[in-house]
Amino acid sequence: MFQGLSDKLQETFKRLKGKGILKEADVTEAMREVRIALLEADVNFKVVKDFVAKVKERCIGQDVLESLSPAQQVIKIVHEEMIDLMGGATGKILIAPKPPTVILLLGLQGAGKTTHAAKLANMLKKQGKHPLLVACDIYRPAAIKQLQVLGEQLNVPVFSMGQEPPADIAVASINHANQNGHDVVIIDTAGRLHINEELMDELRAIKTAVRPHEILLVVDAMTGQDAVNVAESFHKEIGLDGVILTKLDGDTRGGAALSIKAVTGCTIKFAGTGEKMDAIEPFHPDRMASRILGMGDVLTLIEKAQESFDQKKAKEMEQKLRKQEFTLDDFLDQMQQMKKMGPLSSLLEMIPGVGKQLKDVKIDEKDTAHIEAIIRSMTLEERRKPALIKDSRKKRIAKGSGTSVQEVGRLLKQFEQMQKMMKQLTSSGGMGMFGMGKK
Ligand code: GDP
Repeated sequence: MFQGLSDKLQETFKRLKGKGILKEADVTEAMREVRIALLEADVNFKVVKDFVAKVKERCIGQDVLESLSPAQQVIKIVHEEMIDLMGGATGKILIAPKPPTVILLLGLQGAGKTTHAAKLANMLKKQGKHPLLVACDIYRPAAIKQLQVLGEQLNVPVFSMGQEPPADIAVASINHANQNGHDVVIIDTAGRLHINEELMDELRAIKTAVRPHEILLVVDAMTGQDAVNVAESFHKEIGLDGVILTKLDGDTRGGAALSIKAVTGCTIKFAGTGEKMDAIEPFHPDRMASRILGMGDVLTLIEKAQESFDQKKAKEMEQKLRKQEFTLDDFLDQMQQMKKMGPLSSLLEMIPGVGKQLKDVKIDEKDTAHIEAIIRSMTLEERRKPALIKDSRKKRIAKGSGTSVQEVGRLLKQFEQMQKMMKQLTSSGGMGMFGMGKK
């Protein structure tokens, strides 16, 4: 995410830090580089101009240059201004005092509306709500089907009335929600390739008919400044409460994320980070700014861990570790829990300082599949006491798992080292990553 921008800014600040004492000319030079980096990342030119001017004024105007760590102060100011640029506050759905809360999703075709209608339903369901998905894209039968398939997958009901006028479907869906105890209604609407009057009229009709509590625009981050223009038009014509910025997992340059709030006044409430149903995050400007400046995003990492790790299991695991009863089966279990958190490469990106260093390292998710296969080819007794595994068994296990004797040997060696490390950890009282599951 935003790799190019992130690299350029970090290089600039590294040079600045190397200088020790800063003069005004150093700040001017650094700001020139920041300006270029932002423009290259497709950030709106006026936003860039204002941003750089503000940062520069703060850097030169205060006692920054005379402070003990001037470069750090400059980075701090850039960080703060970047948070401000993205709207400051964290994205949330406003829940209506009287149910159902009505959420209307709009956007151009292909932006990710249907996918994000389902992701939102999934997220709200996990928070204890009873959502209803509503198919108002009457032009493409495939769109209704797509929503139904996703709804089925998530066990969330989908309301549809075929090709009836969208505003009528929306009104009927609210009655349906009232009668069936749904406290959130998420309406997926039709998109178009471009903005046109027909689309706006249709959306205005739905808005008037159901008075949504949240009108959220879904835009594709990959489209850069086009996403910003789309947001501006929709906001002017319909009035938006927020934006869902999708496809941030792709090779986006950052222009949309950094310009939308400043240009349109609309905050980005959620970020879409993949095609899977749990690939949605509340948009945290502070964490986003930290990621861009290479400070990592430990908070999101911890939240993901808490969501994915079964608390009861984490406790059991801790007990086992304390008693040194941790087996290869437990190791397998931990690995599966880790996998629920998402691809390893995207997790590493959130660790401060790691993302940049590992950006060229290819992490082969196949390796974990091999480890799984090897452990599954062992007997239960062997998983408990790997020391029992002799060479002849290593051969059989390699054959059974479709791997090599070397791979089996390597895993056993690593496990043995891990056990040793655990012994030291438990005797010194620290519990490493296994303590992460605890609230
Ligand atoms: P709609 O026309 O606006 O309803 O768009 P869809 O929901 O059908 O999404 C269009 C395509 O984008 C689909 O192939 C989705 O799987 C994909 N997509 C949606 N959101 C994301 C995202 O956050 N990341 C990635 N990588 N793909 C996404």
